[in-house]
Amino acid sequence: MSRRDLDALVIGAGVSGLTTAICLAEAGLRVTIWAAEPPEQTTSNAAGAMWGPYLVEPVNRVRVWSAQTLDVLWQLATDPQTGVRLVSGIEASREPVAPPEWGNQLDGFRLCEADELPDDFVAGWRYTAPIIDMPTYLGYLEQRFAACGGQVEIRRIDALEQAAGVAPVVVNCAGMGARDLVLDPELTPIRGQLVIVENPGITEFFSEDTGLSPDLLHFYPQGETMVLGGTAQPGEWSREPDQGAAVAIIARCSDVEPRLHGAKVIGHRVGLRPTRPGVRVEEERLDGVTVIHNYGHGGAGITLSWGCAAEVVARL
Ligand SMILES: Cc1cc2nc3c(=O)[nH]c(=O)nc-3n(C[C@H](O)[C@H](O)[C@H](O)COP(=O)(O)OP(=O)(O)OC[C@H]3O[C@@H](n4cnc5c(N)ncnc54)[C@H](O)[C@@H]3O)c2cc1C
Repeated sequence: MSRRDLDALVIGAGVSGLTTAICLAEAGLRVTIWAAEPPEQTTSNAAGAMWGPYLVEPVNRVRVWSAQTLDVLWQLATDPQTGVRLVSGIEASREPVAPPEWGNQLDGFRLCEADELPDDFVAGWRYTAPIIDMPTYLGYLEQRFAACGGQVEIRRIDALEQAAGVAPVVVNCAGMGARDLVLDPELTPIRGQLVIVENPGITEFFSEDTGLSPDLLHFYPQGETMVLGGTAQPGEWSREPDQGAAVAIIARCSDVEPRLHGAKVIGHRVGLRPTRPGVRVEEERLDGVTVIHNYGHGGAGITLSWGCAAEVVARL
């Protein structure tokens, strides 16, 4: 493959890489992805996932990217094949806190009455938002990319310079891998673990506003299954499920929703949220090539994916 065959090379096949590659390819560019791991082994595949800016900065750019992504996900939810569905539910807190700033981006967002909240909760808000079944969604993105002639090659690189001769534009969507790829010590993992159970008939999501606690509490209905969460452990690198954490997740969720007691466990998922003081979407020149970075999306990579990908295209 030479620079004459390709217009852009994207590093990474998580939600950032696939979405960016689609936007570039649908803009008419010839695009290939190189990824150390296929989509089903990425952090993106492990995510819950629900639209919502969480553990991510800077606020002003996040507001724009998340709004753009919300529009796209809302449209994708009209096609069940995408894995995106619109689900109503409640986020609540055991402390008297103000509702999140992003609430005004969602139609129908409203404060809860006290009798709508579970025991021990004192504040809450009800809304409808996209919930995404990530294994299905990543499969949809792969197919959409392939339909534009795009290819995903499983290939790890040790430095961006290895990609420089391949295409005039290289987009770095390496998630946590960017830490070594571009020597970015500001990029650190916040480990997350989830449990997948059979859905006992729950149709609404629930999420606790747990602030910066490492112990999260949320459950998302995904049709026949439920995704229970979770954890947010700064600086933890292990991608192996921890049995004790799984038991605690199930207990926390069952306390709020008794129908989850004894639900059959189907699987466990672990991922590393690629977190830095601010998401990095910016370009630089390297060995005569334009490199555009698109990484560091923390706990909101799905929420920001279409907005960040659109900005990459706009920067060309
Ligand atoms: C438990 C959990 C729950 C989450 N829930 C949500 C949620 O509800 N909503 C939300 O918006 N976000 C959520 N997130 C955050 C979201 O998953 C991440 O922000 C997002 O997946 C990051 O995507 P990415 O494509 O940038 O990185 P990744 O998915 O990690 O993909 C990185 C890609 O780069 C490749 N790569 C890395 N290094 C190299 C290299 N040297 N050479 C070649 N390829 C390389 C990898 O192989 C991979 O293909 C959650 C995360 C976790 C862990």
